[in-house]
Amino acid sequence: MKKEVELIVIGGGQSALACGYFLRRTGLDYLILDDKETCGGSWPQTWESLTLFSPAKFSSLPGFMMPASVGEYPSREEVISYLCAYERRYDFPIERGVRVTQVTREDGVFIIHTEEGQQVKTKAVISATGTWQNPFIPEVSGRERFQGLQMHSKEYQNSKAFEGKRVLIVGEGNTGAQLLAEVSKVAQTVWATHKQPEFLPDDVDGRVLFDLATAKYEAEKLGKPFDSSRYHLGNIVMTPSVKEARGRAVLSSKGRISVLEETAVVWENGERDEIDAILWCTGFGFATGHLSDLVSVDVRGRISTEETRCKDVPGLWTVGYGGWTGFASATLIGVGRSARQTVKEVVDYIKEIK
Ligand code: FAD
Repeated sequence: MKKEVELIVIGGGQSALACGYFLRRTGLDYLILDDKETCGGSWPQTWESLTLFSPAKFSSLPGFMMPASVGEYPSREEVISYLCAYERRYDFPIERGVRVTQVTREDGVFIIHTEEGQQVKTKAVISATGTWQNPFIPEVSGRERFQGLQMHSKEYQNSKAFEGKRVLIVGEGNTGAQLLAEVSKVAQTVWATHKQPEFLPDDVDGRVLFDLATAKYEAEKLGKPFDSSRYHLGNIVMTPSVKEARGRAVLSSKGRISVLEETAVVWENGERDEIDAILWCTGFGFATGHLSDLVSVDVRGRISTEETRCKDVPGLWTVGYGGWTGFASATLIGVGRSARQTVKEVVDYIKEIK
């Protein structure tokens, strides 16, 4: 690996690839460092039956369309092959199996420290490490006493581990609903949610949500009012599996957990259900621990930014983590915009410090 480059991109998932796309014509000497041995970012770790919310042509990175999928929505495998094809097509300079442990800065130069003991010096850094390596489980009284299986959705591949069990599914988001739909086919399930889950109309998919989010974003940018009462962007998308689960009447929540016991969940209304396992579908923070020596990182992994540019450290950008770092940036279709703007800013910055 080179010891000095102009720019390091940390992470090799879709966000890093989108940056790579815009970096091709800049002439910058850069490297992408990814801790995985294979392509696809975190997608290979998602569950086997996962499909996207939007059709392929609305789930593409810049420059190269995702090929049409076999089903209505692309499967996990189709997303992985697309990302691998994208990487091959543009032949990005990626070093794999390199885990960045910390980034430090001395006299305006960043030093990238890796688990393998290498160090690389660079003028600028784009962090694009996603969320997957920072799973979140909320504080729930008695959790440490519970004796059965506990799994975060990060580990979930299929329903095998839950077969024949009494399973508590926690979380009212899309992951909670989709995994409830799948696990309830082989297990007896109860669903815990912080608030009552709300479902989108059957014909609203990720594409409609993206268009709506875009309209809201554009209106806010212009200081215009926006009527967001039509759909709540965070509500559950009625994927085919969730629709099927609705037909089996398994989509009802028992509300909030009061306490967990060795073999049971006690609900806020005092009712109690014996359970053998818990599946936490409670989301993720941001995998930014490697920036903690450089900048203040909050408990969820967020740092202070203006769009993708770090406010406190010149030369540092964060791409693909979600709304706080660029509109819709944690989606395949949305990250291109953040990547393009970021690369433009990086090029200007490097010219300026020369
Ligand atoms: P990742 O894919 O996580 O890539 C980051 C890469 O960085 C990984 O390879 C990781 O191993 C590596 N890395 C992390 N830390 C380090 C380090 N310190 N050093 C070196 N390498 C590191 N989006 C859509 O557009 N449509 C959908 O339908 C959709 N559905 C989703 C369903 C689920 C269940 C989830 C979780 C997400 C979904 N998303 C969807 C969101 C989004 O597309 C993904 O979260 C996406 O993986 C984010 O890409 P990324 O490149 O930012 O991060």
